[in-house]
Amino acid sequence: MTQNTTSFGQAILDRADQLARFSDAEAGLTCAFLTPAHRAAQAQLAQWMEEAGMSVRIDAIGNVIGRYAADAAVGDSARVLMTGSHFDTVRNGGRYDGRLGILLPIAVVGALNAAGIRLPYHFEVVGFAEEEGLRFKTSFLASSVLAGRFDPALLDRQDVDGVTLRDALAASGLPGGGELPALQAAAVDPASLLGFVEVHIEQGPVLLHHGLPLGIVTQIAGSSRFQVRVEGLASHAGTTPMGMRKDAAAGAAEMILLVEQRCGEVPTLVGTVGQLQVPEGSSNVIPAACMFSMDIRAGEDGIREAAIADIVAGIQRIAARRGLTAKVERVPPVNNAPCARWLMDQFGAVLKKRGLQVFELPSGAGHDAMMMQRVTDVAMLFVRCGNGGISHNPLETITADDARQAAEVFVDFLRHFQPLPAMRR
Ligand SMILES: [Zn+2]
Repeated sequence: MTQNTTSFGQAILDRADQLARFSDAEAGLTCAFLTPAHRAAQAQLAQWMEEAGMSVRIDAIGNVIGRYAADAAVGDSARVLMTGSHFDTVRNGGRYDGRLGILLPIAVVGALNAAGIRLPYHFEVVGFAEEEGLRFKTSFLASSVLAGRFDPALLDRQDVDGVTLRDALAASGLPGGGELPALQAAAVDPASLLGFVEVHIEQGPVLLHHGLPLGIVTQIAGSSRFQVRVEGLASHAGTTPMGMRKDAAAGAAEMILLVEQRCGEVPTLVGTVGQLQVPEGSSNVIPAACMFSMDIRAGEDGIREAAIADIVAGIQRIAARRGLTAKVERVPPVNNAPCARWLMDQFGAVLKKRGLQVFELPSGAGHDAMMMQRVTDVAMLFVRCGNGGISHNPLETITADDARQAAEVFVDFLRHFQPLPAMRR
């Protein structure tokens, strides 16, 4: 297990490059749920899992799940330690966000298999099909299915072309054809799980700032997302006096500034409008409609909810004053998810043994582990981001050496993993 040290990290980065070639757009990396590029990435992951020595299944939402079966001596009683992350991306995203947490454990399994090492438990690597919410404006779609938390109302949710999630799944050829019972049956049995661990790039500058390759996540911050639709009245840009307009875009602009101002009042609170559209807009027509997204997060659920209440009330006030209507639609909120101390400590012990600093930090970004935390104990290992910690951007980067360190830590973690005794659960 010590021979292929530098190549270990480089091999992971090379695969991230290969996977990034499957893109919805010609320039950059965009991989939205169930597009041809997404299906190609899914097939590639399945192939790499098989080559590494895993048996592979694809579930009703498109998750690719590879199992490295337990040592035969353990018998039928073996439970499952699960790891994984997502392979969909944001528009023009980075190649390591999510994907590192699939490619790294595949490389680790490949190394264990090559060395003839079996583990005393089943080890499963999940490539989650959808986390970012790019196509159907809902995040954690894939992990919600695996965690048995799928919201049936989402089947009627439409993408920008008016295709429902139900129809997209039916056309995909995935098992179950988008039928609700199949999606519900894809849930994992929590009793079969030993835990869920996720490797992910930090997506921020903290590890870089401290000069550390790896960090252990303490908790994953909750987030709330909204889609806001403002409606006014279309009229001629040349003939309608300024005082007689019902301009949806100008109203939206004032609402966006409110988000910025209110979220700037508390240090741990952040608010972002990342999507803004004037549907069927035209340069010589006063906008009849304007749509924008809102993403609001905080270290504490109470701080976040108070800000949301203020902002939603403020949006309605602005709309009323301008003679507009505003519809604020909430994507189900995700509460803070704490990581399990017993799993964090096992990662900590490995870092210490390898002479690395045991550094703990919270995650401001949401991750699949957050959804899995509803059914099992979770932990996350963060890997340092280069380029100032930038993510959700083509400039996102990590080094081969950091990938190597993370992979070696992961191997050690797996080989020394001690399940939590049943009594303490
Ligand atoms: Zn991610």
